[in-house]
Amino acid sequence: MTKEQAKQRIQELSALLEQYNSEYYMQDNPSVEDYVYDETMQELKRLESEFPELISPSSPTQRVGGMVSNQFSKVAHTVQMQSLQDVFDFEQVENFVAKCQDIFPEAEFSVEPKIDGLSVSLEYQNNQFVLGSTRGDGFTGEDVTANLKTIRSIPLTLNCPENLPLLEVRGEVFMPREQFLKLVARQEENQEQPFKNPRNAAAGSLRQKYSEITAERKLDIFVFNLQRCEGKTFSSHGETLEFLKEMGFHMIPEWKICRNAEEIQQVIDRIGNSRQNLPYDIDGVVIKINSLEQRTVFGTTSKTPKWAIAYKFPPEEKESILREIEITVGRTGALTPVAVFDTITLAGTSVSRAILHNQDFITEKHICIGDKILVRKAGDIIPEVLRSVSHAENAEVYHLPENCPVCGAKAVRDEGESVLRCPNIACPAKLHRQLVHFASREAMNIDGLGEATVTALLEQNFIQNPADLYFLTKEQVLNLKGFKEKSAENLLHAIENSKTAPLDRVIFALGIRNIGQKASKLLCEKFLTLENLENANEEDISEIENFGEVMAKNVYTALHDESVQNILKRLKEAGLTMQYTKQEISENAFFQGKTFVLTGTLSGMKRNEAKQRIEALGGKVSGSVSKKTDYVIAGEDAGSKLTKAQTLDVKILTEEEFLEKLSSYNSISGK
Ligand code: NAD
Repeated sequence: MTKEQAKQRIQELSALLEQYNSEYYMQDNPSVEDYVYDETMQELKRLESEFPELISPSSPTQRVGGMVSNQFSKVAHTVQMQSLQDVFDFEQVENFVAKCQDIFPEAEFSVEPKIDGLSVSLEYQNNQFVLGSTRGDGFTGEDVTANLKTIRSIPLTLNCPENLPLLEVRGEVFMPREQFLKLVARQEENQEQPFKNPRNAAAGSLRQKYSEITAERKLDIFVFNLQRCEGKTFSSHGETLEFLKEMGFHMIPEWKICRNAEEIQQVIDRIGNSRQNLPYDIDGVVIKINSLEQRTVFGTTSKTPKWAIAYKFPPEEKESILREIEITVGRTGALTPVAVFDTITLAGTSVSRAILHNQDFITEKHICIGDKILVRKAGDIIPEVLRSVSHAENAEVYHLPENCPVCGAKAVRDEGESVLRCPNIACPAKLHRQLVHFASREAMNIDGLGEATVTALLEQNFIQNPADLYFLTKEQVLNLKGFKEKSAENLLHAIENSKTAPLDRVIFALGIRNIGQKASKLLCEKFLTLENLENANEEDISEIENFGEVMAKNVYTALHDESVQNILKRLKEAGLTMQYTKQEISENAFFQGKTFVLTGTLSGMKRNEAKQRIEALGGKVSGSVSKKTDYVIAGEDAGSKLTKAQTLDVKILTEEEFLEKLSSYNSISGK
């Protein structure tokens, strides 16, 4: 390759990597798999090592890939948050070990799983958690303190007998697999763009405007490094990990100190073999020099430390035979083809089904029943059909049925859409899913109204749409299989409680296509009341940032659909409050993650409104005072709850103090 050709290729590869970085770090929505990114990066590295004079300081090989969005305030990192040098085969691990032991023959290595999440720094002053930030470009990150406080495994106070003036740790925030699968299922149901893998889901959930959405996503963290600690000295990484464990951090599991390449190989094999059984994703193993003094001798490059490497696992792919294509009907009527193939073991788990998305996907990949297909587990979780390897004789590309397999209605395909849909409002498959969604935790949060109860209610013909839930009688509930006096009362009570759900939850619960939790909130932020929203036209709606024309059209069409209008009318008749309190995000995270108890009479607002305002700001309202209560808000004539709070030493806020805290959020009431 000539220098001129290399220059051109370097430009192409750099532009491609910039695009991938932006999709991955800014939009949390990569367009290519990690291994494609890694191969592109490797090609660029190879060319740059062949033509070092062509290396630009702004090359993707010279910089940490993350970026900082304007959505958060910026945090300058005192200790640079670096990336790691990747290696893809064991020979490179051996070379690294040999290089280190050339200088320090006794060098030891800490070998740890490489958690596939996003890197954060947590800063503590005087034992209190004060600042949490993303890695960003390594020098400047984003302030995500309020969102990090929703992660329960992050201690807000260090478990330290003495006062530590300053402590900074680094860890990986991740979404456990189970949570990820639930989230994707909900997003698919709701026809939202689902997250591609747990890593992107974790990043998207942490870099959220609304802390309560982060809280619902149930993120977790593993801490893997001590960055700074005033008042203590350590000689090895292993020592710091033990110390941080005592401080109350959720520490990186399974780390082991190794003395040579053979021991490292054993740990890599052990971690690799256990990978599939872990409840979280890992994408490799990190190998770090253990001695902190030796680390300083090796130093760092502008992007990575020279005393550590990351060994990355390769993706796993296998062939199977496609036996059948099943059609499932979603809440919005989408007919989704699912490939059913001979069971194979991928990344350690048995796999026999994979979503084929839509007709375009099937046609493009020429998929026929009986084909030998290549399957991969992307992100080690969701299996996907990569391609058809070979066709059986006389095989024909599969075509989705023309009719809904559940109700038989003729399926339709909207202009510009690739999804085939059952248009029948009364289709039992749709109704069932719609009701389960309506009652779900993120929507109306009706405890006890799961799939089985919905099936029973539909079988008995007690309900035809979500509004009917609010007119159920105890007698009817007692008629359902498995319900007794107490459980019937509980269900009716949960339905009653859901009447005060804020407007954004009601809109989300309606299950409008492409309108997820965040979009519902954004709608309420702009229109504040259902009436305003109903009176808005498509253009008004599309003015919302991040709302495309399709989303605006879907909202407008749904709210002008007779059956939806009828449901909303009956929900109002049933007494749903459907209020929304506008929320200006403030850095003051006073309410976030805390439990409050209201007692006495508040002169400025009704108790229910106070509850909603607290909840909208990420707090919880409980009915009784316990040691777990953070604050009791005492209005006029506060009684026994106030006395109990005083006995238990729970902090008390007067109504005035409470209103002052609320006003720091610039809240505007939107009834
Ligand atoms: P990296 O993922 O290779 O490794 C560095 C990170 O590992 C650190 O920032 C740290 O947070 C994390 N880590 C997890 N466990 C750790 C442990 N025990 N000890 C130390 N660190 C640990 O590098 P990166 O810069 O974060 O990201 C680059 C990678 O991201 C690429 O190799 C690629 O796989 C992926 N990526 C993909 C795309 C795409 O479009 N698909 C785009 C950009 C990046």
